[in-house]
Formats: sequence, C-alpha cells, structure tokens
Amino acid sequence: MAKIAVIGTGYVGSVSGACLADFGNHVICVDNNNEKIEMLKKGIIPIYEPGLDAVVARNTACGRLSFTADTQTAVKESDVVFIAVGTPPTCDGSADLVYVEAAARQIGSIIEKYTVIVNKSTVPVGTGRKVTNWISEETAKRGLSVGFDVVSNPEFLREGAAVYDFTHPDRIVIGSESERARNIMKDVYRSLYLNETPYIETNLESAEMIKYASNAFLAVKITFINEIANLCEKTGANVQDVARAMGKDGRIGSKFLHPGPGYGGSCFPKDTKALAKIGRDNNEIQNIVETTINTNENQKLRAAKNIESVMGSLSGKTLCLLGLAFKPNTDDMRESPAITICEYLANCGAVLRLYDPAAMKEARWRLKTIEKSVYFATDEYDAVRGADALVIVTEWNQFRNLDLYKVKNLLASPYFFDLRNIYKKQEILTAGLLYFGIGSGNK
Ligand code: NAD
Repeated sequence: MAKIAVIGTGYVGSVSGACLADFGNHVICVDNNNEKIEMLKKGIIPIYEPGLDAVVARNTACGRLSFTADTQTAVKESDVVFIAVGTPPTCDGSADLVYVEAAARQIGSIIEKYTVIVNKSTVPVGTGRKVTNWISEETAKRGLSVGFDVVSNPEFLREGAAVYDFTHPDRIVIGSESERARNIMKDVYRSLYLNETPYIETNLESAEMIKYASNAFLAVKITFINEIANLCEKTGANVQDVARAMGKDGRIGSKFLHPGPGYGGSCFPKDTKALAKIGRDNNEIQNIVETTINTNENQKLRAAKNIESVMGSLSGKTLCLLGLAFKPNTDDMRESPAITICEYLANCGAVLRLYDPAAMKEARWRLKTIEKSVYFATDEYDAVRGADALVIVTEWNQFRNLDLYKVKNLLASPYFFDLRNIYKKQEILTAGLLYFGIGSGNK
C-alpha cells in the first residue's frame, strides 16, 4: 500500500486523509495550523462533519492515520502527496493559487525519491503544469533531478455528507499522462476501483475542467429553478409541482431542483467565478455561468426584500432566522445566503434572533458588522420567542418538525417565511400562521 501525505487538513484534506486510511493506505495529514493539528491528535474534529470522528478514531487507533505540522517528515516518508489546500477567490474572481504554490514549492524542496503529487484542490485549467514547474524549480535549486509526476484528482464531496461521498463517489477522475503515476493512483483507490466505481482517466487539463464544469452545471441548475420559482410566484403556478414533474424526466433528474434563497458555500460561488474568469481570459465568454453568478446574488437579496415587502418597514421589528450555515449538516457559512439576508434585514433596522445547530461559532465572527442587531439564541424556540416573524433559511432536519402551535404562541406576529419550502402551506395556516414560501404564489 502507498504511503500518503495530505497537505491541508481542512474539509477536503481531513475527509480525504481519513477515508484514504480507511481504504487501507498509510496516511499522514499535515496542516500549518498547529491548533488544528493538536485537536486532531486528541481525536477532536475541528469542523462539523457527521461521521468523520468515527473514521478518524478507527484509523488513528490502528496506526494507519496520523496528524502533524511537520511537512518535511511527512513528505519525505511518502510515495504520494496530496495537495488539499484552499483556493479562495481573488477580487477578479480567479482562484488564488498562493497556497497551492507554497505547498508545491515545499514539496519540491523536500522530495528525494520519485513521488506522485496529486492536486485535490480545485484549480484553474493549466495549474497542474504550473505545479510541475514550481516543483522542478525547487528541486533544481538543490541541484537534484528527482523524478515526480503531477496528477489532477478533483474532489466532488459535499460538506455534510463528505464521508459517504468520498467512500461512494459517482466517479473518480484521474488526470495524468504518466502510466507510472496512473498505476500508483489505482493502488491508492484500490478498494473503489475493485468495486467498479467509474474510474475516468484523462489528461491534466480535462480533469481540471471536469471539476469546474460539474460545479458550474449544478449552480446553473439551482439558479434555473430559482428563476422558474420567481416566475411561478407571479403566474400562480406552484414550483414544487413544476420541479417534481420536471425531475421525473430522466434527462433532467430531480437533484438540485429545489428553489431557495440562492446557493452559497465554499465551492459553487468561487468555482463559477473562476470558470467565468477562465472564459474571459481565453476570449470564450461563458455567458450562462456569468449570468448565473449575478442571478444568484439577486436571489439572495430577493429573499430578504420579499420579507420587507410583506411586513412593511422592518425598523424596530424582531425577526427570527433559523439556519445560518449555507446548507444543513455543516458549520460552514462561507458565502451563505444567510449572511446577505441577515445583513440586509439588520440594515433595514430589524433586530435578529438567530439560531443554527452547528454554525453559531462561525456566525459570531461572520456577522460581526451587524452584531449590535443580533441575539444568538440557544435553540430554535429561544430564537422564535417574541419575534414578529420566523424565517427558515437553512433546512436542518430539526427545523422540519417544529411544534407549530408552540411557535404561534411564542411569536408576537404570525409571519412564517419558509425559504426552503419544507412545510406545507396548509399546516402552517392551520396553526394560525401566515405562510410565505418560495415559488408558490402565497395567495
Ligand atoms: P479549507 O480552508 O477548509 O482547508 C485548507 C487547509 O489547508 C487549511 O486548514 C489550511 O491551514 C491548510 N493549509 C494551507 N496551506 C498549507 C500549507 N502550505 N501546508 C499545510 N497546510 C496548509 O479548504 P477546503 O474547503 O478543504 O478546500 C480545499 C480545496 O478543495 C479547495 O480548492 C476547494 O475548492 C476544494 N474542494 C472543496 C470542497 C468542499 O466542500 N469544501 C469540495 C470539493 C473540493
């Protein structure tokens, strides 16, 4: 079995490292954030990711998984080094490669024997070649000509279901022109390969493009149904019926056809922006993607403005918002629609009572600019107490089954905004509340 180092122990690195160890590999996860590494060494998972603690505990106990801040030793002892560092957006939308470059140069300054360097970070087309150059420059500085190959192996896991996704992927994509590297990668993914998980081998550029094209397509699909939902509101159609019937068409599929307050998270916003930038740089404008980016921003604001248009002036009103993470089962609030919505409502003069099952710590710093208007509640009913409206922003399971009569009694006014359409209008009305969903006319 290959000895693997994973550089970057964030959402992707920690899950990849732990699951690769579960496949039987020996894995050492590296991060330059000491605090994170110390927590992981004690078995504490720094992120909220269901099921990850058990995989980490199991593999740490049998000696297949370890954590370190010492990149030197980890890389030197490994045959395969994954790069799983962040690639945040820069002001012009392109992916910032500083962390990837730093990791690549570190690897180049350390390796002494043939090593496969696997890029798991989401990176613009052409980055694999750059990584090759950065590593070569560093080995040349030491007067060495060490053999190595760079592979692109994009990751498609979803936060909140990351362990399942990593261990049951729809496909594995390997971009490489080296047969030696491709054979080593088959070993790394041996258990999935034997399970006949679709295994797509291609060149570096195609692998890099597959990741952006896939994420952009999903972002377009969400944005499409959001626009249809907006039109349904004006025309008397019900978007849930429309989406259900559309989804039954095998050519369309039912996934990502759920209207809401826009997509967020660490991937779709930044990957669509990066793909649009690649299009502009290559003089091949990606019109659909460009439009999707703008439409999605409007959708976030639209959700907030709709609350204002229903309730009138929000000055001095108190609003309860449930769900702050960009989706359920994660504490990640990067580009969460909740941020745009909270900021808009607070700037209208509303007082916000907020609750999220996992993202309260994140919310405290991400909503710093409006902290004077915010009360961080201890649970969903504490958040509802005395509010003039309840707004469901993120569809955590525990918000799907609220005691609606208790909610009615706790609210000062009966407004119920369901931005995820998780309730049936009739059950809300029966509880004596006023229902406002997405894409159903609310008439
Ligand atoms: P993250 O910010 O959670 O984690 C990155 C980690 O890398 C951090 O812990 C940071 O301290 C560490 N790091 C940075 N430079 C380092 C270095 N030189 N040495 C050691 N550690 C270093 O990021 P993430 O969400 O895990 O994303 C990583 C990449 O994977 C991104 O390119 C992202 O687009 C991609 N991706 C993310 C997801 C997701 O759902 N989060 C899914 C698929 C792909």
